[in-house]
Amino acid sequence: MFTRDKFFKARKEIIEILGETRVLSDEISLSLHSFDCSLGRTRPDAVLLINNTNELPFVIKTLNKYSVPFVPRAAATNHVGGCVALKGGVVLHLMGLNKIIRVDTQEEFAEVECCVVNEDLNNLLNSLGYEYLPDPASQKICTLGGNAALNAGGAKGLKYGATREHIIKAEIITPFGEVVTLSNKDKGPDFLGFIIGSEGTLGVITKLWLKISKKDYFIKTMLAAFDSVDESMDAVAAITARGIVPRCIEAMDKTTTAAVEAFSKSGYPTDTEALLLIETDGTARKAAKEIKEIEAVCREHNCKKIIIAENEEKRQALWKGRSGGYAAMARLAPNVFVEDGTVPRAVLPEAIKKTREICETNSITAGLFFHAGDGNLHPNVVFDQRSKQETNIVVKAGKEMLKVCTDLGGTISGEHGVGIEKRSAMSFMYGAAEIAFFKKLKNALDPEGVCNPDKIFPVTDKESAVKEAAKEIKDLSAVIAAARSVKIQGLNSNKIKTDRAKVSLKNINKILDVDIKNYTITVQAGAKVTDVIKELSAKKLYAALPKYKGSVGGLFAQGLCNEFNSYVTGMQAVLAEGEIINYGGKFVKNSAGYNLARLFAGSQGAFGAVTELTFRIFSEKKAAVTQQKTLAENPFYQRIKQTVDKNNKFEGTFDE
Ligand SMILES: Cc1cc2nc3c(=O)[nH]c(=O)nc-3n(C[C@H](O)[C@H](O)[C@H](O)COP(=O)(O)OP(=O)(O)OC[C@H]3O[C@@H](n4cnc5c(N)ncnc54)[C@H](O)[C@@H]3O)c2cc1C
Repeated sequence: MFTRDKFFKARKEIIEILGETRVLSDEISLSLHSFDCSLGRTRPDAVLLINNTNELPFVIKTLNKYSVPFVPRAAATNHVGGCVALKGGVVLHLMGLNKIIRVDTQEEFAEVECCVVNEDLNNLLNSLGYEYLPDPASQKICTLGGNAALNAGGAKGLKYGATREHIIKAEIITPFGEVVTLSNKDKGPDFLGFIIGSEGTLGVITKLWLKISKKDYFIKTMLAAFDSVDESMDAVAAITARGIVPRCIEAMDKTTTAAVEAFSKSGYPTDTEALLLIETDGTARKAAKEIKEIEAVCREHNCKKIIIAENEEKRQALWKGRSGGYAAMARLAPNVFVEDGTVPRAVLPEAIKKTREICETNSITAGLFFHAGDGNLHPNVVFDQRSKQETNIVVKAGKEMLKVCTDLGGTISGEHGVGIEKRSAMSFMYGAAEIAFFKKLKNALDPEGVCNPDKIFPVTDKESAVKEAAKEIKDLSAVIAAARSVKIQGLNSNKIKTDRAKVSLKNINKILDVDIKNYTITVQAGAKVTDVIKELSAKKLYAALPKYKGSVGGLFAQGLCNEFNSYVTGMQAVLAEGEIINYGGKFVKNSAGYNLARLFAGSQGAFGAVTELTFRIFSEKKAAVTQQKTLAENPFYQRIKQTVDKNNKFEGTFDE
């Protein structure tokens, strides 16, 4: 339990590290660091200005020694209260860590400190003919470290993935003050992918090595106007269902369009109910062909008007409106409350319809502008936080919107994270077993509970969502619960020897669902990779599966193919006590809770038996190769293993 006294005890030692001028406790500094872009407001007990990555391990060690909670804070543009020190403690003001250390165009990576602003890196890269792809709408101000901590998405996320897919390596300071480097080439669990998106609750990211790419492609940009939101959403679902993956599909409703036009005069038609801003990219031929196909789909869905940008200037004009959407809405009222639920793309029309009904029932005004291609809704509700009654209505309506998303098989967060504000909605998605597992992971890596505490976990799990498991999974769970020591086996084609009782997944091998509307497939872990490829190719579909003789679960649990892992959107596993947990689903992005799919990828069965996987499929072939990985030393494996499987029930190898 933190008390003010504890910080006073730590204060002297912290001043020895940082100097007096970088330990702030004056009223103005505390007030300025009491909020972010959410509704939460709490004054911390001190603000520590961090300017040097070398001093941070000593600062964190000292804070841990005195059990002082610390909250990493970058540009504070998050919408969930992630930077709010709910129960006091110190705010680590990281904005001094803002150097671009190196740009290597030969090897195509950039090495940066955590608080380089996203757009600053891109401005430099653009001058060299390169770019860093993740592009949150806040990129003018938000930082690359903040993006990594929340796995930020952006317009291009549909085609190129969110932040996680663009990080090669990261330097993390653990809650104990150790310096750890995690890489996507490390053998074993994908700890890099797991830490990204963990909202600063498992350590502080100090440095990042980011993938950069050449800007040597063509872009086609189109604005399509519709007479109804439903028709525009049907068009989005139809584009996805045809297997076209555009560079982006951004949507705006009439409220947003009117606000945008009043603010920035982007030339948007204001006499329509909905707009889609769509881009394709690639070779000139491919970009043009795809935009033509998309135009045809839009027309099939009663699109009223199409504007195609003929040059870069016209393209920038079309983007000006979308980029300024939040600012335009912010002119309508003192506050804007943004939700972030995400649904499988096929049910987007229904999710939008229900969201609008919630606005109507609660008599609130929301501008809808969002990443439609990802199924990621962003109702931007305008209101006045000075009115308690108004605020309560908005918060209640927000929760109803998230419930709509989870009821439709979606998530409470596609990219903003959970922080403080969405904690109570976690139980819409997860049951007691998943929440308990998340807590164990936090406890394993931060037993003192000092690193950005009071975030993510629901305060109560009264409304817990429990998913019914198939009979064969319940049987497996009973076997694992009763066993003392097991080895999980896939197809055992490598004939690995073990003294442990073997638990084979050979017969848990069904292809459960090929969803051609959402472009996902769900298979049981024992399904053969070759069988899945065969099943898909009969339908002219492809997954990022490499040539591999074993099972899909074996490929995943050995972490053999990064491309495949990056397209896994859902997972089921059986844990040491037989608990069955479910993570993710058919939605393409998820920032709710720790990324269990990344933790289990490469874990070789050490944390539990993976029984089911859902992953994205495509209408075009996807590159997928098996990677050579190197054994890397880090403290995470032992800490997690000792907490989630303390009797060492699972052998840490998973054969084919
Ligand atoms: C106008 C507007 C538009 C937005 N558009 C998008 C969008 O398109 N896509 C999107 O995903 N988000 C969007 N956001 C939300 C927000 O900008 C992103 O979540 C962004 O990634 C936050 O970065 P930041 O530097 O502001 O981080 P902060 O808000 O300072 O921090 C975010 C969280 O990460 C933690 N943290 C910060 N730095 C570190 C670090 N170095 N190590 C460990 N933990 C850390 C903090 O404790 C906090 O929990 C938008 C916000 C606004 C205001």
